[in-house]
Amino acid sequence: MTSRRFDRTHTDDLIEFIGASPSPYHAAANVAERLEAAGFRRLVETAAWDGEAGGRYVLRGGAIVAWYVPEGTEVTRGFRIFGAHTDSPTLRVKPHPDTGAAGWRQVAVELYGGTLLNTWLDRDLGLSGRIALRDGTERLVLVDRPLLRVPQLAIHLDRTVNEAGLQLDKQQHMTPIWGLGKIDEGALIRFVADEAGVDAEDVAGWDLMVHDVQKPAYIGRDGELLAAARLDNLLSVHAGLAALLAAAHDGAAHIPVFGAFDHEETGSESTTGAAGPLLETVLTRVVSSRGGSLDDRARAFADSFHLSSDVGHAVHPNYVGRHEPGHHPVPNGGPILKVNTNQRYATDARGRAVWAAACERAGVPWQTFVGINSMGCGTTIGPITATRLGIETVDVGAACLSMHSSRELCGAEDPHLLASAAAAFLAG
Ligand SMILES: [Zn+2]
Repeated sequence: MTSRRFDRTHTDDLIEFIGASPSPYHAAANVAERLEAAGFRRLVETAAWDGEAGGRYVLRGGAIVAWYVPEGTEVTRGFRIFGAHTDSPTLRVKPHPDTGAAGWRQVAVELYGGTLLNTWLDRDLGLSGRIALRDGTERLVLVDRPLLRVPQLAIHLDRTVNEAGLQLDKQQHMTPIWGLGKIDEGALIRFVADEAGVDAEDVAGWDLMVHDVQKPAYIGRDGELLAAARLDNLLSVHAGLAALLAAAHDGAAHIPVFGAFDHEETGSESTTGAAGPLLETVLTRVVSSRGGSLDDRARAFADSFHLSSDVGHAVHPNYVGRHEPGHHPVPNGGPILKVNTNQRYATDARGRAVWAAACERAGVPWQTFVGINSMGCGTTIGPITATRLGIETVDVGAACLSMHSSRELCGAEDPHLLASAAAAFLAG
């Protein structure tokens, strides 16, 4: 499949979405903007909901849940849910950011998620996130130009690095520089306030993080691969949004739902994470605002299915032995079904059947990932939401290399294939 010409429209749009979404807050806001353009209306959590048919969404920080109630849908009708996450491993700004040594100005950072530390070295880094103001409002911040760098030690000062392996101390060696001069208390937040067009005195709090400013790129002999930051998991967020927009119509057999949650990389436990009550609250209100009872909610949940989408491992040509010999997902081989009977993934026989049927309807090839017994396995929001809501769940995604690197790699066709399969699932 890899040398065939393919329509790049979906992947071109993914590239734009990733570039505009360096933080979970930007990702959720960009999803909201696209939903608004498609006629979806935002519902406020503190207000009563009307329960009318049509497209609606709830935005909460770095998380967003959107759904479409087809005209005439009874209250016990189940949901078809596509779930993903908006956050990625990165370096986040500490409460007292201004630091430095030996005439260098630096920014104190905390490691966020399971970061591959070496991938942040010697890259041109920007800054993004949100600031909270004294008046209770908040602003998104995006400095999308080279501002910071975590410089690697020269080989002359670390002669054994290539033989002994790179040893990075998480506290000592990951502090970015952002210029020269003495430590200037408050300088970073003054800079950020200036970028946001507000007074530094009005900034009461911040959730800021660094990102690689290099744009995504097609690579490979035929441009058949995509190199980009945050494929984990903006690839799925973007695919799920496209799938919802394709499935949102009055003929849909169930209520299509798209949920993108924050804090997956740290375990999903937050008010905006998949282990929190956000999805349950939204689905409950979608039932109750249409006059449904607790019993109706239970019936709707029992009639529901959840497709949890996240990246998985493609077989690595230089480390083939790290992969299960009978299961080698390849880029552009189609989306992957993720299996782990120890429930790191929620997939079971019934889930596999639902997934296979969706891929068949979409005309999309698919592959299976399962880990090697001698190694542990990652996990996703799939088992978490399955446990919390009791809704049947299947784990799927796209195969990639370099997961949790600051710049990951996947097949350039796979995002579209995943979106097509997801659209068939949501419409089913
Ligand atoms: Zn992920």
